Amino acid sequence: MTKKEHLPEKICLVCHRPFKWRKKWQKIWDNVKYCSERCRRTRRTKLFIEETSP
Ligand SMILES: [Zn+2]
Repeated sequence: MTKKEHLPEKICLVCHRPFKWRKKWQKIWDNVKYCSERCRRTRRTKLFIEETSP
């Protein structure tokens, strides 16, 4: 029997794509909401635009 490695997955709030657990998120996995730094920035930019638009 081989042990299959099952990594947790989440859906990115920006691009809506599933992304898998990464070792660098080991300690902050509960707080991870975006698949990448790029998406995190996109989200912030988007919010900023929405907030400042009339
Ligand atoms: Zn994303």
